Amino acid sequence: MQTAEIRQRWLDFFAARGHTVVPSASLVSDDPTLLFTVAGMVPFIPYLSGVVPPPYPRATSVQKCIRTLDIEEVGKTTRHGTFFQMNGNFSFGDYFKEQAIEYAWELLTTSEADGGLGFAEKDLWVTVYEDDDEAIGFWKKTAGLPDERIQRRGKEDNYWSTGQPGPAGPCSEIYFDRGPAYGIEGGPVADEDRYIEIWNLVFMQYLRGEGTSKTEFEILGELPNKNIDTGMGLERVAFLKQGVENLYEIDQVRPVLDRAAELAGVTYGVNQDNDVRLRVVADHVRSALMLMADGVQASNEGRGYILRRLLRRSVRAMRLLGVDAATFPELFTASRDAMKAAYPDVESEYARISQIAYGEEETFLKTLASGTTILDTAVAETKKSGAKALAGDTAFLLHDTFGFPIDLTLEMAEEAGLSVDRAAFDKLMLDQRTRAKADAKAKKSILADLSIYTDLRAKGETVFTGYTDLETETSIL
Ligand code: ATP
Ligand code: MG
Ligand code: MG
Ligand code: MG
Repeated sequence: MQTAEIRQRWLDFFAARGHTVVPSASLVSDDPTLLFTVAGMVPFIPYLSGVVPPPYPRATSVQKCIRTLDIEEVGKTTRHGTFFQMNGNFSFGDYFKEQAIEYAWELLTTSEADGGLGFAEKDLWVTVYEDDDEAIGFWKKTAGLPDERIQRRGKEDNYWSTGQPGPAGPCSEIYFDRGPAYGIEGGPVADEDRYIEIWNLVFMQYLRGEGTSKTEFEILGELPNKNIDTGMGLERVAFLKQGVENLYEIDQVRPVLDRAAELAGVTYGVNQDNDVRLRVVADHVRSALMLMADGVQASNEGRGYILRRLLRRSVRAMRLLGVDAATFPELFTASRDAMKAAYPDVESEYARISQIAYGEEETFLKTLASGTTILDTAVAETKKSGAKALAGDTAFLLHDTFGFPIDLTLEMAEEAGLSVDRAAFDKLMLDQRTRAKADAKAKKSILADLSIYTDLRAKGETVFTGYTDLETETSIL
C-alpha cells in the first residue's frame, strides 16, 4: 500500500464516522512557544484546552510534523524521521476511551479488501498506563487481547500532560510485532525495535495541578469535558505495509536514497555506515524540502538554523559517502517528485525552494573547502611538533568560525594519523553554551515570553502553557 493510499483510508474511515476532515496546518506553528508543529494535536490545542469552543465535536487530520529531538535517531533506528506525518483523530468532549479503542482496533484489523489497514490481530500489542484498568477492560472487550499482550507502563511512558497545570491523562499505545528476526520476545516493554510503536491514544480526562517534574504532580480531579487525542505515524504504517525494512525505504523517501547511492557509486545494503548516511540524506533532504515549502529560510537562529543544520548534515553525509561536488540539484528534485502528489506546493514553489537549497549547498561546500585548508595546516604543524593530537582550540575554531562539524574534524584528523584533544574541545563548547544561555536569559527566552496562553491564564482559566517537548525543542538551540 502506497503512503497516499494509507492516508486516504485513514481520512475516509474517520470521515465516515462523523469526523470533520481538517487539512494539515503549516510546519511552522502559530504558537510562538513552539519551533515547529510536533504532533497532530498542536493545531487543536485551543479546543482541547477548552479555551475556544470547538467548531466540530470530532476531527481528523494528517498533520505534517517536524521533531528535531529525533535528529540523532535518524538513519540508525528504523522508525524516526525528522519530518513525518501524523494521522490523528480527535474528540472534543464527544466520544471517549472505549470508542477510541474500538475505532483504532477496527481500522487496524479490518482487511485491506474491506477498506482497513489489514494488520493481523496476532501481531498487535498494546501498552496502558499502569493503573488504567478501564483501558485494559476495553482492550479485552473490543479486541479480545490476552493479558500478556496488554502491558502496563508507568507515567514516564504512558501518561500525558503538558508539564504544566491543565489537562492530563493516561495513554495507550499500539505496537506491531515484526517477529523474532527483529529482536527479543516480550512485547514493547522488552524491545521497541522489534515491536514498532504505531499509534498513541491519549485519554485527556484529568486536571493536573502543579508538580515538580513530568512524572511528579497532583491530579486535582476529572475534567468536565473529556477529550481524545490520537496520533498514528503514517510513515511507520507505510513501512510495515510496504514490506520494507524501515521508514527511509517507503515510496515517499526511497527515491532520494537511491539517487544518493547512485551519485556516490555505492550500493545500499552493503556497508552499515554508508547505509546510515544514505538514510540521513534521504530524511534530511525531505525534511528540508517540506520546511522550505512552508516558508522557512536558512539562517543562524531559530527555525532557519534547524533548516541550515539539516541541509549541512546532508552535504556532510554525501561527502562522507565520497561525493565532494554539489548533489542537491539531483537530490531535491528526486524528493520533490516523491512528495508532489501529496503536497503540490513542493512543485509550484520549487523555484524558490531550489534557490535556497542550492545556494546553501554551494556556500557550505566552500566552507568545507576553506576549513580543510586550515585543518591541513594544523595537522602538519601538530605532526612537526611531535604531538599525537590536534589541539582542542583548533577543532573549536573550525567548528565555530568555519561551521566545521566536530565529527568531520575527528575523521579527517584520523585519516592523517592524529587524534583530537576532545576534552579541550568539549570544554570550549561548554563555555560557549554557558555564555549563550546567559545571553538568552538576559534577552528572555521565547518560552518565557509566553503567548496567548499566559494572557488567558491571567484571566484565571485553565489552559496549556507549553509542552515539555517544546521546551526541549527550543533548548537544542
Ligand atoms: P517513539 O517512542 O517511537 O519515539 P513517540 O512515543 O515519541 O514515538 P508519539 O509522541 O506518541 O511518539 O507520537 C505518536 C505517533 O507518531 C507514534 O506512535 C509514531 O507512530 C509516530 N512518530 C513519532 N515520532 C516519529 C518520528 N520521529 N518519525 C516518524 N513517526 C513518528
Ligand atoms: Mg519519540
Ligand atoms: Mg514512544
Ligand atoms: Mg508514543
